[in-house]
Amino acid sequence: MTSCLFCKIIEGSIPGEIIYEDDHVVAFMDIGPVSEGHLLLIPKTHRENIYDMTEDEAARLFSVAPRIANALKEEFTPAGLNLLQNNGSAAGQAVYHFHMHFIPRFDQTDGFQFTWDPKVEELPQDRIRQIAEGIRSKLQN
Ligand SMILES: [Zn+2]
Repeated sequence: MTSCLFCKIIEGSIPGEIIYEDDHVVAFMDIGPVSEGHLLLIPKTHRENIYDMTEDEAARLFSVAPRIANALKEEFTPAGLNLLQNNGSAAGQAVYHFHMHFIPRFDQTDGFQFTWDPKVEELPQDRIRQIAEGIRSKLQN
């Protein structure tokens, strides 16, 4: 018996307002929405975060994203749409089953904010080049 909230929604042991389901993924309405139409897309297989996803699972999940985005666009004609995916509590993850938020945006006063101050002085171009080299070396494995 899973203790994962999203696995319970997949199993049907707790209700969820499911809007899409196939063999690999489920999409359902967020119960704490930022805006009308805010929904979540998740893999059916329990994966805690992006680090646990296989490339196939990620591909299957994201392959549905344009269809869901266009359904939201057709339904609401929002001014914008954010796709947001958090990994770890420091990044704002609250439920530890991978999920991608689809957040239709109607104006910039809906309470959702995602801003930052660019670290131009702390991260000059030569440091960015060093960082890029470090990441590149990890991708070559
Ligand atoms: Zn789960």
